Amino acid sequence: MQYRKFPGTDITASVLGMGCMRLPTKDNQVDRAEAIRMIRHAVDQGVTYIDTAYPYHGGESEVVVGEALSDSWREKVTLTTKLPVWKVKTYEDMEQTLDEQLSKLRTDHVDFYLLHALNGDRWHFIRDLGALDFLDRMVEKGKIRYPGFSFHDDAAAFAEIATAHDWKMIQVQMNLLDEFNQATYAGVKKYCGERGIGVVVMEPLRGGALARRTPDEIQAIFDTASEKRSAVEWAFRWLYDKPEFVTILSGMSAMEQLDDNLRIFDQAQAGCLSEADKAMLTKVREAYEKRVRVGCTGCEYCQPCPMGVKIPRIFQGIDNACMFGDAKDFAPRYAKLVEENADASQCVACGTCEGQCPQHFPIIELLAGIREEFKGA
Ligand code: SF4
Ligand code: SF4
Repeated sequence: MQYRKFPGTDITASVLGMGCMRLPTKDNQVDRAEAIRMIRHAVDQGVTYIDTAYPYHGGESEVVVGEALSDSWREKVTLTTKLPVWKVKTYEDMEQTLDEQLSKLRTDHVDFYLLHALNGDRWHFIRDLGALDFLDRMVEKGKIRYPGFSFHDDAAAFAEIATAHDWKMIQVQMNLLDEFNQATYAGVKKYCGERGIGVVVMEPLRGGALARRTPDEIQAIFDTASEKRSAVEWAFRWLYDKPEFVTILSGMSAMEQLDDNLRIFDQAQAGCLSEADKAMLTKVREAYEKRVRVGCTGCEYCQPCPMGVKIPRIFQGIDNACMFGDAKDFAPRYAKLVEENADASQCVACGTCEGQCPQHFPIIELLAGIREEFKGA
């Protein structure tokens, strides 16, 4: 395992981080025994960075992480969780929420505490509520070691937030397909690399999309490389190559994925891509971009919908079908959503979801198109 230092802190962490947003499940619940076995196996194999958050797995992720890190496991890792900014109404709510999280995590402090999923509006709200003062006070009290934020918005919002405080860590969505989206890689280099702020990457496989079946036309591009590697390995190497990224989170749902990631991260190095590799990966991105219909990451910030529309399942379903085959491949899965009364026809265009989407998708319009396309599915 390779390790990198967070500039301006005393923390050095494994480049592979265990993301606890997609833990293994059984009967729609976290499979606790398997999740704990995976987290401890990761730590045994050198992973020292564990990431969770208040809403993951409906609140169960923090509980399971706390159980996995009980006894002496906590001391072996850098632990990050996040303030659910959308849940906070008053200044006092912030410390109460943190205390609840520390209790679930069975610890008296977290190493990084992030304002979760900031966009421009959320930032202005939580800043005006006194979040920076709250973070400073929690550092003084020893409940958190370093403040940071995670981010889903555009490059202008990123510049504003990144320069507004002495952040010690920033978590961004970044992958082979998102070089020019959200914070953008250029924004990360400018506002984090040049200012000495460590960066953690989330969604390295674009919500798992890059790990699924590789379409023939894209496999043909990968096949032009001199070294034969899986699409997952190329996606991680694209990130690993860049020294600004201290830790790359992988939301692993099975032990085989964890072992495969451990192998990939053991072998890769910063600067591991040749110019020919970079050119090949640019062609891969361009080919994928032509195939994606929506680009939904499945973050679920648009949920719950008051009418029960399962927006992420609809958008990710159509994206996956388009990326890996054809839109009509989505029909059987759409029929299942119809059975559950969770399909696009349930939408009454109330607009609640659109303000929550970090990708700013015109959700109502997209749903209307899908409703027409799959009428009678
Ligand atoms: S606009 Fe439609 S999908 Fe969005 S929250 Fe309202 S009913 Fe649900
Ligand atoms: S539609 Fe937007 S908010 Fe909803 S899951 Fe997709 S990316 Fe996230």
